[in-house]
Amino acid sequence: MLKQEPLYEGKAKRVYRTDDPGKYLIEFKDEATAFDGKKRGVIEGKGKYNNLISSYFFKLLSREGIPTHYLETVSDREMLVQAVTIVPLEVVVRNVVAGSLSRRLGLPEGTALPEPVVEFYYKRDDLGDPMLNCFHIRVLGLASTEEMERMRQLALKINQVLKHHLEAKGILLVDFKLEFGKMPDGQLVLADEISPDTCRFWDLNTRERLDKDRFRRDMGGVAEAYAEIWRRLVGSEEHVD
Ligand code: UDP
Repeated sequence: MLKQEPLYEGKAKRVYRTDDPGKYLIEFKDEATAFDGKKRGVIEGKGKYNNLISSYFFKLLSREGIPTHYLETVSDREMLVQAVTIVPLEVVVRNVVAGSLSRRLGLPEGTALPEPVVEFYYKRDDLGDPMLNCFHIRVLGLASTEEMERMRQLALKINQVLKHHLEAKGILLVDFKLEFGKMPDGQLVLADEISPDTCRFWDLNTRERLDKDRFRRDMGGVAEAYAEIWRRLVGSEEHVD
């Protein structure tokens, strides 16, 4: 597999074409942004941890029957994936109130939700990623009713698998964001990443934040928190793979 020219550069990742038109290489960067790019920084080692943690979750989810774009972890910072067309929606799943939901509903952060909540946001930086309902999604032609239902089902199944797996490692899965991609045959697969950049992970007992909120809220210990998540995931295993 030969790495070719970059296809796309995002805030935290670079996507390259390869000599196989059906495969892309994702490179995870240490750069971090928050609040629509208004806050910027570098978190030493973040790229490596996000790649390793995402690879770990994609493998776990594949074993549980979730279709994903993941193919192979090529190096500490590089992941080989299926070339998919990203659906321009962010699918957020929440178990506990935090962040924007706390502001929207006027509930304190940390309030347990009686059932998981799924939300769709429009991936449009220029609009500030607004929340959409199914009517908006249909009239914009972003996904059909069936595709929305499929994404909702997959998101809830992914939540069940991750929440249960993380609890056993002393981690509370507060909320997270997913992106889906379409394969050439139209099949929806989980894409992008699942990492402390895109999830809220709290220590199950102390509720200490072990995710990107440490960067967003200037709490310090950001790189240490990412490393701690990785340590808890693989700490008891001999082999990373
Ligand atoms: N999230 C993300 N990318 C975004 C917005 C949110 O990965 O552009 C994740 C975020 O890390 C959290 C969840 O989605 O785990 C819900 O975020 P929220 O809506 O509370 O927004 P925030 O408070 O982060 O602005």
